[in-house]
Amino acid sequence: MGGKGLEGRVAIVTGGSRGIGRAVAQSLAEDGASVVVSGRDAARLAAAAKELEGLGVPVLGVVADVARREDAERLVAETKERFARVDVLVNNAGITRDALLVRMKDEDWDLVLGVNLRGAFLMTRAVAKVMMRQKSGRIINIASVAGAMGNAGQANYSAAKAGLIGLTKTAARELAHWGILVNAVAPGLIDTEMAAAIPEEARKALLAQVALGRIGSGREVAEVVRFLAGDGATYVTGQVLHVNGGLYM
Ligand code: NDP
Repeated sequence: MGGKGLEGRVAIVTGGSRGIGRAVAQSLAEDGASVVVSGRDAARLAAAAKELEGLGVPVLGVVADVARREDAERLVAETKERFARVDVLVNNAGITRDALLVRMKDEDWDLVLGVNLRGAFLMTRAVAKVMMRQKSGRIINIASVAGAMGNAGQANYSAAKAGLIGLTKTAARELAHWGILVNAVAPGLIDTEMAAAIPEEARKALLAQVALGRIGSGREVAEVVRFLAGDGATYVTGQVLHVNGGLYM
């Protein structure tokens, strides 16, 4: 079981229905947090919420597309209604629409920026108002190694993730006054459906650059998020923690 360091705290994890987000929601729940998970697919979300309830904490699943302002605001409003506070926001929802730059369609640029960057902005703005009143909070943005290194075929995704790092640092500066700490976690190659979609050749080429020589798990990202959400991270803000097995140093 471990300690219950997050007992009484309320965490929102966007895209908490599978992959890294699901592992994050699980870690926070194991530490005793009440968790709110969001996603677009209702059935998948319900299954994840049910599993999380098995950990003995209150769980709320909210079907919401983070790229839509009404959805993002409703997600925060429903969390407040049910739990009366928000202590942790994990901006994890993300998508890819890969193509080489010269072939990239406008709509694929807009879609990826809309979810991965605008979505995080909309959620941060909505949650910040609640956290400012509380005079405390943690916001953790799931960026990517691609935001720091770039990645061929991911101009939209890399730009969104680099933008997310800029958003992280600005939010950290603006919100520090209210005791709100904002950090990013930048995963490398992690074993989820998103990574499974990478073409075999590209995957192999990436893996060859990973010092630890293996793909990471959602759990290994979640452990770092758990740290940033917890009482051991009170003097950490505006940082990017890389969780990539040494792919980028
Ligand atoms: P998955 O594709 O496995 O899961 C994505 C999650 O986000 C799902 O729960 C999905 O649910 C949800 N989601 C997608 N779009 C939206 C949306 N518009 N609104 C709300 N929820 C949404 O991805 P990963 O777990 O691999 O990735 C999670 C995060 O980690 C992303 O931000 C990704 O960029 C980042 N990352 C992943 C890496 C990897 O190697 N896997 C590496 C570096 C970063 P639904 O489809 O039902 O909406």
